[in-house]
Amino acid sequence: MVALQKAANTFDNSYFTTTQYDDLPGNRPHSGTVIGRFGSWKRSLKLIGIVGGRERRHSPADLIDNLEAAWKELGFRPGKRQIAAHGARISEGPYRRHWGSLLSAGERLAEFHDGRISREQLLAGNAASVPRVTIPLKDRWAVLKRDCYKCAKCGGSPSSDHTVELEVDHIHPVARGGGNSLENLQALCRKCNQGKKDR
Ligand SMILES: [Zn+2]
Repeated sequence: MVALQKAANTFDNSYFTTTQYDDLPGNRPHSGTVIGRFGSWKRSLKLIGIVGGRERRHSPADLIDNLEAAWKELGFRPGKRQIAAHGARISEGPYRRHWGSLLSAGERLAEFHDGRISREQLLAGNAASVPRVTIPLKDRWAVLKRDCYKCAKCGGSPSSDHTVELEVDHIHPVARGGGNSLENLQALCRKCNQGKKDR
């Protein structure tokens, strides 16, 4: 699976298709093999931190243009449902990832119009308010390999059951001071991970 990791580096760690992957020069397992192991292409990429495919196309400038257009059209600040139904019909997801929430994106836009922040500051997003901690690609792979591509809790494996979706989990949660060291990371299936969060 080092091959997939290398391919990801070639594509700047942003989304790439099976065709793009299979067309790269050199020898590597076919995309079909990768899909066989992890259930689907999207899941394989998601495992190494790459979220596909359509949402990634929107730059912060695109997102702001879209928000502004929807706002003007509606005459009020768009909420979740409105943003998905107006303009380019972009979901709130990309806004949440870059500004923390759709609401904060709207607030920043209003601040920009009031002359309180520059366009650069507006487009920079609210990185600090986004609680996501990125686990480096090579560490994700190391954890999955160490845990034999199986859920550390129930033993579920995507290669034998395609409904199993593996995620890399922080054993001691980041919110409570857990770090990104390999000892604090484990492969969990989505079900077990969700069960852990609900507790
Ligand atoms: Zn599990």
